[in-house]
Order: sequence, then C-alpha cells, then structure tokens
Amino acid sequence: MLKSSGIAQKSDWEAKLPDVNRRKSGPYVVIECYQKIPCNPCEGACPNKAVTIGEDINTIPCVEYGRCNGCGICISRCPGLAIFVVDEGFCPGFGKILIPWEYLPLPTKGSVVAGVGRDGKELCPAEVVEVRIAKNQDRTAVIGLKVPLDFVNQVRGIKLGGEENGR
Ligand code: SF4
Ligand code: SF4
Repeated sequence: MLKSSGIAQKSDWEAKLPDVNRRKSGPYVVIECYQKIPCNPCEGACPNKAVTIGEDINTIPCVEYGRCNGCGICISRCPGLAIFVVDEGFCPGFGKILIPWEYLPLPTKGSVVAGVGRDGKELCPAEVVEVRIAKNQDRTAVIGLKVPLDFVNQVRGIKLGGEENGR
C-alpha cells in the first residue's frame, strides 16, 4: 500500500515508534524513512549518536531510543522531511510534535493552524508553540505544534490560512 499510494499506513508508521514505556518517558524521535535509499545525514546530525545507518548508505536508519533526548536537531538535516519529534507528556490532554517546514510564510507562534495527516487531510486544530529557524538549518524551519494527544502520531503537517489568532 505504501508503495502504490506513497502514503504510510498505520502499520507502517506504528513500526517506527518506540515501545510504550519509552513513549511515556519523554520526547522521542520518529524517523519515517521507509525505503532503502542512498542517504545518511540523519546519522551524522545526531549529537547523541542515537541514529545508525552504518557502512551501507542504503540501510534504513535505526534509532537507539535510550540515546535520543528529542532535541530535534536531526529534523532539519533530513532532505526527505521524514523526521519528527513527539512529546506525549507536553501538558494534560495534549502532546507536542516537531515537524519540518520548508514553505513561506512561516507560521506564527501562538497561531492556531490546521494539523494535517500523512495524506494531507485536516485532522485537528494545532497551536504553533515554537518556530525554530537558524542559519545551520539551511532554510528548513522546525515548527512545534500542540495537538490533542490522540493526534500526536497522526498529524505530520500543517495547513495555513484562517488562523484564529496571531496573524
Ligand atoms: S531528536 Fe536529537 S537526540 Fe534524537 S535522534 Fe534527533 S538529533 Fe538525536
Ligand atoms: S536523512 Fe532522512 S531521508 Fe535520509 S536516511 Fe535519514 S531519515 Fe532517511
């Protein structure tokens, strides 16, 4: 299904999550890189050496979750925009997601945008709680979103327009 539609299905992305205990213990990276391609910036980007690809550059990245602190540094280094960070303990009833964003305009901190799924369909309101853009991110911003807990591993993008405040 992933190959024919280009859209990761539940069984695809669930296989990329850490176990339940790790998910409860703090922010964690989710690397939604599904196919063997010659690419490895994520491996060198992680200051904690949590990501391994190894000698064969076509290997799908492997995460050692004990080393990942959810810093999000690797997000902007991925040319495939395939890396996210999820924090399921952000505040009661809500989680935080860090996503890559390469469009203009940048969303505004404090605004409420539409959180969209892997298929681009709107899922829920998402409050922009962080906007990171530094020179070493090479114009790939990292956007922090507060979303209802049920959607932390469903929302993987945003749709701007009609924001409720801050714009
Ligand atoms: S979120 Fe930070 S610690 Fe985790 S894999 Fe990415 S760079 Fe490494
Ligand atoms: S940088 Fe991104 S696309 Fe490249 S191997 Fe890592 S996760 Fe996959």
